[in-house]
Amino acid sequence: MSDWLEGKVVENIHWHDSLFSLKIDADIDPFTAGQFASLALEINGERVARPYSFLSSPHEKPLEFFFYTATGGVLSNALFALQPGDTVLVKNPANGFFTLSEVPKSRDLWMIGTGTGIAPFLSILKTDEPWSKYENLVLVQGVRSSGDLQYQDVIAGFTDKYGDRFRFQPFISREAVPGAIQGRIPSSIEDGSLEKAVNLELSAADSQVMLCGNPDMVKDAVELLKARGFEKNLRRKPGQITTENYW
Ligand SMILES: Cc1cc2nc3c(=O)[nH]c(=O)nc-3n(C[C@H](O)[C@H](O)[C@H](O)COP(=O)(O)OP(=O)(O)OC[C@H]3O[C@@H](n4cnc5c(N)ncnc54)[C@H](O)[C@@H]3O)c2cc1C
Repeated sequence: MSDWLEGKVVENIHWHDSLFSLKIDADIDPFTAGQFASLALEINGERVARPYSFLSSPHEKPLEFFFYTATGGVLSNALFALQPGDTVLVKNPANGFFTLSEVPKSRDLWMIGTGTGIAPFLSILKTDEPWSKYENLVLVQGVRSSGDLQYQDVIAGFTDKYGDRFRFQPFISREAVPGAIQGRIPSSIEDGSLEKAVNLELSAADSQVMLCGNPDMVKDAVELLKARGFEKNLRRKPGQITTENYW
C-alpha cells in the first residue's frame, strides 16, 4: 500500500532562476539508488504530483532532489518557491526500475543524462554497488549553460576516491567551456568524439549504457547505439541499454 507522508523542507538551494535543489526530511521506507519518489503540493485546491529521482543515496538524510523549473510548469515552479519548514507530500514507498539490479554486469558502465537527469546517477555512484560491479564508470551530463553544471564537488569526490576508474564528461550546448564538449550527446556518440574525450570505447561487448532525462536525447542515443549492435535491456532478454524518460 502506498501512502502520502508529510515531508518538511530543510533547504531550498536556488542554483539559478530555473534550477534548484530541495532537501526534505521525510520518514519514507528504504529505497534503492536510481529510484524516484512522487512529490506533491496542494495547488488551487488540487493535489498536483510528479515523479522526481532521488539525488541523495539510500544512506543519506535528508532526502535530496534536483529540479528544473519547466517553462509554465505547475509543480516545479511551486516547489521552487518553497521555504525551509514548508510541507511537501512524499509518496511512500519509492518507485522505479532505473536501478543497477536491472542492469547486467559488464566491464564498463556509461551513465548519460541531460540536466537534472544526472540525479539518479549521483545517487547510484554514492553507493558501493557500481564500484564493485563495473571496472570503468563514465558519467556524461548534457546541459545548456555552465550554470547548469552543479554538484561538481560530489563529482570531483568520485575522481578523488576512484581515480582513473571514473570519468566525467560535460556537454554544454550554448557555451564554449574548456573541458566540455559543445554540442549534443547523440552527435558525439555518432562521430566518436565522446569516446575520444573519455578515452574509452563504447562497445556492445563491454559496455552497459544508462540514459536519463530529455526523451529526444534518449531516443536519438538509443537509435545510434542500436546501429552499433546494442539492444534495449529487457528482463526477458538482457541487452545493454537501460532508459528513463523524464517526459
Ligand atoms: C521517472 C521520472 C523522474 C523524474 N525526475 C526528475 C528530476 O529528478 N528532476 C526534474 O527536474 N524533473 C524530473 N522529472 C520530471 C518531473 O516529473 C516533471 O515532469 C517536471 O518537474 C515538470 O513538472 P511541472 O508540473 O512543473 O510541469 P508540467 O506543467 O507538467 O509540464 C511538463 C513539461 O515540462 C517539461 N519538463 C519536464 N521535466 C523537465 C526537466 N527535468 N527539465 C526540463 N524540462 C522539463 C517538458 O516539456 C514537459 O512536457 C522526472 C520525470 C519522471 C517520469
